[in-house]
Amino acid sequence: MLEQGPYLTEEDFVHDEIKVINEDLLTNKPKLQPTSFRKTPNEKAKPQRALVYGRLVGGTSVHFTANFWRFHEIDFVERSKIGPVAGADLRDWPITYADLEPYYTKVEWEIGVSGLAGASPFDPPRSKPYPMPPLPVKGSGVIFERAARKLGWHPFPAPMAILSQPRAGRSACVNCGFCLAFGCEVGAKSSSLAAAIPVAEKTGRCEIRPNSYVHRIEMDSNGRISQRPVFFGYGNGGGKRTGLCADFAAEGQAEAAVDAGAASSARLRKNGHGRGERMPAQLASGALKITPEPFTGSGGMGYGLERGGSNGLAPARPETPISHSTLV
Ligand SMILES: Cc1cc2nc3c(=O)[nH]c(=O)nc-3n(C[C@H](O)[C@H](O)[C@H](O)COP(=O)(O)OP(=O)(O)OC[C@H]3O[C@@H](n4cnc5c(N)ncnc54)[C@H](O)[C@@H]3O)c2cc1C
Ligand code: SF4
Repeated sequence: MLEQGPYLTEEDFVHDEIKVINEDLLTNKPKLQPTSFRKTPNEKAKPQRALVYGRLVGGTSVHFTANFWRFHEIDFVERSKIGPVAGADLRDWPITYADLEPYYTKVEWEIGVSGLAGASPFDPPRSKPYPMPPLPVKGSGVIFERAARKLGWHPFPAPMAILSQPRAGRSACVNCGFCLAFGCEVGAKSSSLAAAIPVAEKTGRCEIRPNSYVHRIEMDSNGRISQRPVFFGYGNGGGKRTGLCADFAAEGQAEAAVDAGAASSARLRKNGHGRGERMPAQLASGALKITPEPFTGSGGMGYGLERGGSNGLAPARPETPISHSTLV
């Protein structure tokens, strides 16, 4: 696995907002990974910080908040249900929720997700409960729950990719309050770094190459990865270009999965191919037909001030992550 960012460990994660947020300790750096933005295809794109993602082994899952929702059944067939949307390339998924359900369950059990199955009357069907109970509800969650019930809503503990109990040598969450945008110092957040990569490495069949920027992927005229070196990485050793996959190609195993996030995957797919050609769609999308338009998600946050304490105790600390105590 080639990753442009460093291979960090729990000891590297700190509660330092300046370093982590202002100085992009864990995320893409505007100077090293510049991005541009335009609102319409007719505009000239201007350099702008258009996206934020985890730039380290484990990717954005290391600094994400770890809310771990499943899509609902309708999310897979929205085009059929609501019809076309002007200006958007809305399509149904080529698979249904039922196709994906066993894999949702597999992931929840493999990485460790806490939650309360059946607590939400709106949840899609599931074949197994969560592998562990939900995280304890904090003071802000108590207030949220009371208010939601008053409104006739159905609050329930949010599913979180965070351990509420120790598991596989990893500690349970110690409620440090630094989840969103920070790495977890105790390995309780079920990021790829904490929960998946160590398992893959133990098989002896997964080699992680950090600080290796994939510059382009070369293909032969049949759309197969060429027998020549296919990836070029900038390693730690002074920014030298190195062909990294010559050995795989020689073994006839030159296959690649591109999972570089929405923006980088699209760039590699559209422009990264040698000789000015575009990478065939099947390299990026496997057998599935995917939209030629990459899509990415945007996020929103809400903040509120509470009057007095949540349960007669001291007011919740402003930095308390809402997600842990969120009842939806
Ligand atoms: C602050 C924040 C909070 C979030 N919270 C949640 C949440 O609570 N729940 C949720 O479900 N989602 C959340 N998300 C979204 C979620 O984390 C991402 O959608 C998801 O991790 C994306 O996974 P990915 O594998 O597609 O890409 P990424 O995890 O971004 O992985 C892409 C990797 O590819 C590397 N890379 C890119 N280009 C190259 C290149 N050319 N060469 C080598 N390596 C390259 C990157 O450095 C990165 O490590 C959050 C996102 C952010 C930013
Ligand atoms: S709140 Fe829990 S899961 Fe989040 S970073 Fe702290 S210990 Fe890790």
